[in-house]
Amino acid sequence: MRTMELAGAHVPVIGQGTWRMGEDRSARKREVAALRLGIEQGLSLIDSAEMYGEGGAEDVVGEAIQGRRDEVFLVSKVYPHNASRQGVPAACERSLRRLGTERIDLYLLHWRGAHPLAETIEAFERLREQGKIGQWGVSNFDVDDLHELGDNACAANQVLYNPEARAIEFDLLPWQRGRGMPLMAYCPIGQGGELLENAALLEVAHRHQATPAQVALAWVIRGDGVLAIPKALDADHVRQNAAAAALRLSADDLALIDAAYPPAHRKLALEMV
Ligand code: NDP
Repeated sequence: MRTMELAGAHVPVIGQGTWRMGEDRSARKREVAALRLGIEQGLSLIDSAEMYGEGGAEDVVGEAIQGRRDEVFLVSKVYPHNASRQGVPAACERSLRRLGTERIDLYLLHWRGAHPLAETIEAFERLREQGKIGQWGVSNFDVDDLHELGDNACAANQVLYNPEARAIEFDLLPWQRGRGMPLMAYCPIGQGGELLENAALLEVAHRHQATPAQVALAWVIRGDGVLAIPKALDADHVRQNAAAAALRLSADDLALIDAAYPPAHRKLALEMV
């Protein structure tokens, strides 16, 4: 699978999300199996957060990566209300315990909250010195927020990005590309909703004997510096998502998608879920 550089490592351009995992004990076996299948298919970056299932998703990830920690690039996130000088290390310890590992490769601030950024960064830097995290980054930050980080070594920004939500193309994405800051695209297949029924995506999918979800993923990762983290429980979905990394969209395909979902021509508010 095509890889890109993220936080000093080479990671696949498609990884695995875990939101909504770890919420229901009876789904656990399936969730663990889906993540393991994903790793086998090359989706070796796993994105989690202390928020998902209030720790439940990290527990699931911990079980899925048992005995394979070295094959996986782990991302997790701290709640904004825990992003204080004392709160960050305590939250990180809890995440490490649930994940069953000694190190999170990339640790993100889930979104901006009330704690001063300088405090959060200081705490992240201490964790980095202690080797408990590889690098740190942010999520749901727009250009102004990223400016406020100054020269600090933010390794990535994770934001909403798919054909239905392309406001970031106006300034955030070029800004990050210009600075070599990778963008992690969340909800890359629109949470499996209406996007997958759009006529343009269906037509492009038909041209490539692919599925609309694969087209959405190929579209999200079509340019440099962007990786997608679809979440999938269904084994067919996992396999499809891995195979999407090899799908190349033509100029005609892109034009059809542009006509259905026009690019932004002015600054719009950062979209979030
Ligand atoms: P996604 O866009 O990844 O969509 C997930 C949904 O799509 C699930 O219902 C899944 O079904 C379905 N699906 C997956 N693959 C396919 C496929 N090939 N064909 C058809 N349907 C498919 O939405 P998410 O909200 O999960 O976003 C992805 C990840 O991004 C999250 O899991 C999380 O890790 C991260 N995230 C981060 C946020 C942030 O604030 N930083 C906010 C939101 C998400 P099934 O599971 O049944 O296979």
